[in-house]
Amino acid sequence: MQFKNIIGHEQVKKHLINTVKENRVSHAQLFLGPEGSGNLALAVAYAQYINCENKQASDSCGNCNSCNKYQKLIHPDLHFSYPFYATKETPVASSYLEQWRKSFLANPYLSLDYWRESLDGGNKQANINIAEAHDIIKKLSFKSFEADYKVLILWLPEYLDIQGNALLKLIEEPPEKTLFLLVCENQDRILNTIISRTQLIKINKFSHQDVVKYLTEQKSITSSRAAELAFIADGNIQQALNLIEHDENPYFKRLISWLRFIVTDSGLNIIKFCDVDFPKLGRENQKNFLLYAINMLRQIILMQQGLEQLVLLQGEELEFVKKFSENYSLPQLEEAINLLEQTHYKVERNANPKILFLDVSLQLVLIFKYQTFPQGTQYIQ
Ligand SMILES: [Zn+2]
Repeated sequence: MQFKNIIGHEQVKKHLINTVKENRVSHAQLFLGPEGSGNLALAVAYAQYINCENKQASDSCGNCNSCNKYQKLIHPDLHFSYPFYATKETPVASSYLEQWRKSFLANPYLSLDYWRESLDGGNKQANINIAEAHDIIKKLSFKSFEADYKVLILWLPEYLDIQGNALLKLIEEPPEKTLFLLVCENQDRILNTIISRTQLIKINKFSHQDVVKYLTEQKSITSSRAAELAFIADGNIQQALNLIEHDENPYFKRLISWLRFIVTDSGLNIIKFCDVDFPKLGRENQKNFLLYAINMLRQIILMQQGLEQLVLLQGEELEFVKKFSENYSLPQLEEAINLLEQTHYKVERNANPKILFLDVSLQLVLIFKYQTFPQGTQYIQ
């Protein structure tokens, strides 16, 4: 993987290259970025650059012996660790190395869900267990075969749990010429002891334009459709890829119906929606739906503030945004966004969807129909 194969992130790429040029490559680094942000791809490109035998000013050469092996992920001094399903036959992450190479090379922006699906582990929980932590220690204790630097890329240390402690000493005092690149999505979920021992590389979600460019140039999608998908994906390439398979925006109709029931205070319809429709979506889609709803409300605010040129929508979504912006006030919209953000957080924390969505619906009725702003939430977890 070369830097040029990854869209956007020019600043981060420059920074990473400078650490090599200025000879200040830190031996343990944490690539923190949300799902679909390319954080894993950047870590791989960085490792390839460090070991390239013919480094160019702004990228690895792509042709040397090291680059050739890196590009297929078969370099003997490049190691990966990632969440997996441990069984008797597959005791450590490298039992899945072939699938891993295939998945990453097919989609370097992959999410954990995408990876899980390629593993086909049913409902089991993928994680990084103690046997894997010991396997990492073992691998890194060998001398490097041919590269300057041995590299371990550990994807999603969030799934290390307490096993992470076994790795602390290694992260703190790694063997000579050994790099630890941890790639994580959620800083709150990894051990503080790991965070304090690593240098942070922060990676933002992709911009709307980056996602549009990716979809039009690499997936041959028309620019109007790409704009629509990019809006829903909100900077997450994996999400954009998932959406390509849908014929139409799966969230728009749902949002319209929901809001219609809310602004008319249609109690029975709201209850049905919360009892049946929302739980059926499953947690990931509930979260995506909420992010979509938040984004739409933000577009409505832009429209209302006379910033139509910044609105990223077209067609019936744009019509909807126009109409809604004429009928509701800024405080109402802001309060609703606030509420949906809290809801997103609670979905992530495993709240019961029926109760949660009913509660948020009733609060939205108060906000939009009665212009009453509830103090905090009535819902207690
Ligand atoms: Zn090279």
